[in-house]
Amino acid sequence: MSEESIAVTHPFLDLAPLSADRFASIEDRVARLLGTEQDVVIMQGEALLPLEGAIRSASGPGTTALNVITGPYGQTFGNWLRDCGATVIDLPVPFHTAVTADRVRQAFAEHPEIDFVSLVHAEAATGNTNPVAEIGEVIREHGALFYLDAVASIAAEPVLPDAWGVDLCVIGAQKAMGGPAGVSAVSVSERAWARMAANPRAPRRSYLSLLDWKERWIDGGRTALLHAPAQLEMLALEACVERIEADGLDAVMARHAAAAAATRAGVRALGGGLEPYVHEASEAAPVATTLRVPSGVVASELVARALAADPSLPLAAGGGALAKEMIRVNHYGVDATRSAVRACLGALGSALGEQGLDVDVQGALRAVESAWR
Ligand SMILES: *Cc1c(COP(=O)(O)O)cnc(C)c1O
Repeated sequence: MSEESIAVTHPFLDLAPLSADRFASIEDRVARLLGTEQDVVIMQGEALLPLEGAIRSASGPGTTALNVITGPYGQTFGNWLRDCGATVIDLPVPFHTAVTADRVRQAFAEHPEIDFVSLVHAEAATGNTNPVAEIGEVIREHGALFYLDAVASIAAEPVLPDAWGVDLCVIGAQKAMGGPAGVSAVSVSERAWARMAANPRAPRRSYLSLLDWKERWIDGGRTALLHAPAQLEMLALEACVERIEADGLDAVMARHAAAAAATRAGVRALGGGLEPYVHEASEAAPVATTLRVPSGVVASELVARALAADPSLPLAAGGGALAKEMIRVNHYGVDATRSAVRACLGALGSALGEQGLDVDVQGALRAVESAWR
């Protein structure tokens, strides 16, 4: 009888199991990235898992939630909150702008019973970013629990849950971190743990449960995992945090800020009726720049033409109804580079030119060069 063997080895296969120690050390690294002393739980799914899990854990029929809507994720959070039985006060903000701390202050004045605030920091889908530090101050004055979606801001701009008083801060690695989409993390304050523990409806013995991780992982000294972890994604997350540490978080954020500034400057110089979708640069997210197409042009068609020339460009049309009017330049992660921004503007310029619009591609490329810092 011949000795049995596996024909080929493969870098993704036949790995030793991920130990609890290794898992805990990846959590600690993510905590350092967030500059937080809070507990950090790495959840074994895409960021929607901790986003939904945190809402279901911390809210219920007794909750009055202020839900800020600056894009599609805010809509989703409101729906989850209502599903949990919370009273939801939606604060919708036009997608070309950001919410202000004053609007939040005004909401508390009208509804002093608000005890939960959900906010998206930056929205890759609409290209805006919100002033979290100032909003956090208002929320703290009123003692409400602060839930923040920082998936699109982490590594593109500062995310400081402790300094800003964020109680539940969710991140994913698939945007500016340049990492995997299959695992994600949430930092949890003591106040948030207490709110969950007091919530009879908080999921337990459930994939959505944060309390399971608290009681069975954290309180047990992080020695035994709840279930087999998503090993490949955990290793990819570790590698991606390592790479950010090597480059320096500040340098990674600076690259995203430069990509956003260069895209805005390039678009203004390009002409052809294309404009930054978010009016104020200070309200535009460093992770991605959204553009408004001129009337008579359909954004999804323009993007299709640009991608036909080069399918690797980080371009997309807006989602849903925005597909007509919005283009997204997703200059994040590996695409937070001058060459990606140049290529996107060149391709959009050519596509607009083909439609008979007057564009200055060379001018746009010069503007990219001078705006990049
Ligand atoms: C990208 C993103 C997520 C995660 O959603 P995916 O589409 O699955 O990547 C969550 N929240 C915000 C604000 C995002 O931009």
